[in-house]
Amino acid sequence: MKKKFWSDGIKFQCQGSGNCCVSRGGYGYVYVTKSDRKAMAKQLGLTTLSFTAKYCDQEAGIWKLKNGPTDDCVFLENKRCGVYQGRPTQCRTWPFWPEVLNAKTWTGEVAAFCPGVGKGKVWTAREVEEQLNDQIKSEDAYGS
Ligand code: SF4
Repeated sequence: MKKKFWSDGIKFQCQGSGNCCVSRGGYGYVYVTKSDRKAMAKQLGLTTLSFTAKYCDQEAGIWKLKNGPTDDCVFLENKRCGVYQGRPTQCRTWPFWPEVLNAKTWTGEVAAFCPGVGKGKVWTAREVEEQLNDQIKSEDAYGS
């Protein structure tokens, strides 16, 4: 198999910038699967149905979180996630997403946007792959 740029591990540690939770057009959407909605509903003591009605809307048949009054994620409060424990898969797996996990995008766009790139923990190839696979599975379930 072709060696990936992260095959020997990659450094990333969240710096709590909140950058990944603020509105940035199409990239700012937080898509959620049924199990994502279920986990957040549980954390907030709601049924999945009432959580979905209150905090989500649909675009082309795909569920996403609503934006808050400033157009950022509805759960972003003072740069912190209000549902951190049950946060959606795409938030948990960032920045190990298939569309950005290539050397060019990682060292360019992602590094410019996310201060966690190149900091702290070294993620092994296996760990990166686990996150990547979770994200891919989640993307396949967005319509659920
Ligand atoms: S759910 Fe939490 S981690 Fe995800 S975008 Fe919203 S505030 Fe950020």
